[in-house]
Amino acid sequence: MAPPAECTLAEALADELRVARDDLTHRWLERIAARVNIEPNRIFPTDELLNHVPLLVDGIADYLEDPADEISADIPVIAKAMELGELRYEQGFSAHEILKEYEIMGGVLFGYLAAIADGIDHKCTRGELLACGHRLFRAVAVIQQATTTQFMRLSEERVRERENRLRSFNRTVSHELKNRIGGVVGGAQMLREPWILKDEAQRERFSTIVLSNAEALQSVLEDLLELSRTDGEVRQHRNVELPQAVAEVARQLRELASERKVELRVSPDLPTIEVDAAAVELCLTNFVSNGIKYADPEAEQRWVEVTGRIDTDAPSPRLVIEVRDNGIGVPEDARDRLFDRFYRAHKEVYPTIAGTGLGLSIVRDTVENLGGEAWAEFDQAKGSAFKFSLPCRREMDRT
Ligand code: ADP
Repeated sequence: MAPPAECTLAEALADELRVARDDLTHRWLERIAARVNIEPNRIFPTDELLNHVPLLVDGIADYLEDPADEISADIPVIAKAMELGELRYEQGFSAHEILKEYEIMGGVLFGYLAAIADGIDHKCTRGELLACGHRLFRAVAVIQQATTTQFMRLSEERVRERENRLRSFNRTVSHELKNRIGGVVGGAQMLREPWILKDEAQRERFSTIVLSNAEALQSVLEDLLELSRTDGEVRQHRNVELPQAVAEVARQLRELASERKVELRVSPDLPTIEVDAAAVELCLTNFVSNGIKYADPEAEQRWVEVTGRIDTDAPSPRLVIEVRDNGIGVPEDARDRLFDRFYRAHKEVYPTIAGTGLGLSIVRDTVENLGGEAWAEFDQAKGSAFKFSLPCRREMDRT
């Protein structure tokens, strides 16, 4: 519905929009902050992006003035609208929030033009006025589409990537379970052979095969259960002070450590900040029990040490917890894969050390869910250092 060529109202309204573009942008941002439930400083984190928004208003004004200038993907306003979609995706916005933003934008622009339209000295019919309204509506709709389409494209990519990861995880789990069950069934079948009654050594051998595979199955299932608890994270958080969480883990593992003749050392200088008890105990238990499990049988003195500090050099302050040992270490070519699910670096060289290869991936998932990171360092001649970090949320914890 295009107004006839002699209608000059569209041109005048477009000029008004261009003049008021910065003011309209601020109005829009203020309304978003008030209506959409997000922190104001998340809306436009950089000045550069804030500078892009008036360009959207310019693009709308251009279209209002001359709809023959069809809004297409190669014009700057659409590029800006797509960038906005990317930014919103990175910021974790929902599609609903984006649609809301544009609804607010439409409201601000229509509201402004309605307020000034009577003061514009141009003769026009009601039909022409409605046609101008239609152009404005269409321009907002087209840039909204550009933002939303870009946002949806990125979201779909993420879903596809997660699906692939899940599929490959399913394959690995099925493979692991199949092998373990194969071991149990094969061993049990051998134990039913009549000749085995007379051969104690073979009986012992096959019983061990059945038992060790059944135990491994049990550990895999326990770890999978743990993993499903860390995914999606909706459980209650109980906070304790860090030294208390570390003491609890040390209490639980002290017996295992003394059985394996490993000295368990806990730093007396742990920061007394509050941490999520379940998450920190889970991660520490994994790290410390690994330190004990992978102790060096040849070493005279074996130790595992837990320390912690606030890292104020990071972009935002974080708590770093470290578990260091003087154990067998990890061969250089295996270090990159330690946190992969089911990866076991010592399976060939130390086949008797039991494990599932899931512990470290559980640690990584748990801390990443809380905004932290998990990694390993090999900066000493012997042994390893496994670390994880958690963001310091409270101001008083940041020093
Ligand atoms: P696992 O059940 O095999 O211990 P994890 O996921 O906890 O599984 O660890 C993955 C692998 O990382 C282990 O199999 C081991 O090869 C290596 N690893 C973990 N912690 C240590 C450590 N403290 N010292 C040496 N190697 C370690």
